[in-house]
Amino acid sequence: MRVDRITSDEFRKAVTKSTLLIIPIGATEAHGTHLPLGTDTFQAERVADMISAKKDNVLVAPALPYGNHSSLKNVPGTISLTFDTLRSVMYDILESFIEHRVRKILIVSGHCGTSHMAAVTEACRDIVSEHDTKIMFVSDFEIARAEKEFCFDGDGHGGMIETSRMLAIDPATVKKERPKGKFVHANGVVLQDASSCIPDGIVGDTKNASAELGESMNNYIADTLIRMLDRDLK
Ligand SMILES: [Zn+2]
Repeated sequence: MRVDRITSDEFRKAVTKSTLLIIPIGATEAHGTHLPLGTDTFQAERVADMISAKKDNVLVAPALPYGNHSSLKNVPGTISLTFDTLRSVMYDILESFIEHRVRKILIVSGHCGTSHMAAVTEACRDIVSEHDTKIMFVSDFEIARAEKEFCFDGDGHGGMIETSRMLAIDPATVKKERPKGKFVHANGVVLQDASSCIPDGIVGDTKNASAELGESMNNYIADTLIRMLDRDLK
């Protein structure tokens, strides 16, 4: 059940001690010449909706469509929150849901940049130290990438995993070309414009991306998260 599609009364009745709230976090970020800027948002939302369809007593919050970016910050269309803003926004969203009696929260982030993940983690740490609440915070991309079946050589941003998943989620938003690209390590050099690490705009080879593969990735992520929730967030 989507929080933004129910009434205040329905929300009040839906929230019990065991209710799980899923907050999808996305991004507005360049994803090569073939994927839309909202790729990370659409993937996180899809996983949240799949979990909600497969599991009882789940609410899905509206997705946050912005994250914190470094590598592709200067590429047209990438809209970045600063570290402190993202941490504060996440803190405020979490605290507000907790004020409305939510006690179990799963945050799924489509974007998994290091500073982005750190900002959200800091907000979660502050919240759990101040409130009697349980939070799990994961990146759906990392869950797919950790699975042998979906581990493609040199795959990363905008590559096989993301292209396949978007073909399954919303094929009309995926262009016909299937680009490839490599990640170029800066070897410790602190760059003014880190987009030189992703010179082709994507990382990986998208030649064999397919909706079928993407659907199995999305299902795998949802099923893995359900197992993690049942085990670790009772
Ligand atoms: Zn992405």
